[in-house]
Amino acid sequence: MEPRSARHTHTSKKPSAKPIVSLLLVLIAVVTAASIAGWVWLRGDSAEEKPVASSEANADMTEADMSSGRTDDAPDSPPSAEEEPAAPPLSEAEQAALEAEQARLAAVAAEAAYYATPESADAVMGQPFIIMPQAAYPGDVVLVRSQQEGELEWQGKSYSLQSFETGYYTYIPIPIQSEPGSYALGDASLTVLDKTFDSQRLEVSEEQNSIRQNTERIAEDQKLIDAARASSEPTFLFSADSPFMLPAEGRLTTPFGFTRYVNGAYAGSHTAIDIAAPEGTPVVATQSGIVALAANFYLTGNTIYIDHGMGLFSQYAHLSELQVETGDEVEVGEGIGLIGSTGFSTGPHLHFTFWAHNVPVNPNLFLDRLPFHWLEAGDVTAAEPDPATASDD
Ligand SMILES: [Zn+2]
Repeated sequence: MEPRSARHTHTSKKPSAKPIVSLLLVLIAVVTAASIAGWVWLRGDSAEEKPVASSEANADMTEADMSSGRTDDAPDSPPSAEEEPAAPPLSEAEQAALEAEQARLAAVAAEAAYYATPESADAVMGQPFIIMPQAAYPGDVVLVRSQQEGELEWQGKSYSLQSFETGYYTYIPIPIQSEPGSYALGDASLTVLDKTFDSQRLEVSEEQNSIRQNTERIAEDQKLIDAARASSEPTFLFSADSPFMLPAEGRLTTPFGFTRYVNGAYAGSHTAIDIAAPEGTPVVATQSGIVALAANFYLTGNTIYIDHGMGLFSQYAHLSELQVETGDEVEVGEGIGLIGSTGFSTGPHLHFTFWAHNVPVNPNLFLDRLPFHWLEAGDVTAAEPDPATASDD
């Protein structure tokens, strides 16, 4: 006995002749109807194409459709679907807003370029107020950046924050006599670390020592120097990719901060570095700037002060020759004079230092870097990522 399923299959494979004839008739009717409908549709199709065929774009589209055998409703598609409609012209206010935003982004990029890394630029520029670094030694200088303009009070003096790109900056000098401790500065605190400077004893002839006693001439010189350092360009006069450089090759004979005794008498702190080299050794500008003063002085001999902007000056003393004049613009590395031993000096050397707002500060902080690099690891935590720009990384 065959299984039911097999028998059922066998039965279905034997259809009678009558259904086949009926099926053929239905097929013929359907094909005929389809042919007539297609002919009518094609006529309508070509008639509809005529009014738009003058457009080159539509002529191309039609040709492409025909060559690909396309018979769907392509001709009913919008004739220029791939063309953007012309944007309406911006209003004056919209144009101004667009240009302001482009200028802001350019300023952000220009300022960020001064920092050591994009990460430190983000971290600093995302803070409302920051001191770079937040801890420093007596005789150091720090750089302050704020989102707001204003004045900072520091050790009895007032410092104006100056606009630069998207922030406001000023240098704050820490006088070498400063006591260690934590000091309020703007919206933050500055830690002055403890440091003991070594001593240096100089023996000079009484004749040479006597020139240090001409207080009248020294006071006259000081007036000229103070006047030259009283005004500074209200911007950083150096580019983001040019670090400060050592101004002369030679032997470091006196480091910064040594307490000096001349013939046994206390003679103050040596707030500079001394670089000994043969007379005539070239001296170059540590950084780009404007010569604020190039003249001969009683104590420091032939001396140059260069303004680097924002109240910062570099000083080069005891030169045998001055190669620039007051008012000259100089580029970093440009020759400005020759090493000598003019003024109160025991031998050919360059006395080199920086002044920030008329306070002498440690030149070692500047060499081979920019003040924007004074940030130390751990000084700032990265600012919260801005959701609008987080994907730009
Ligand atoms: Zn010196």
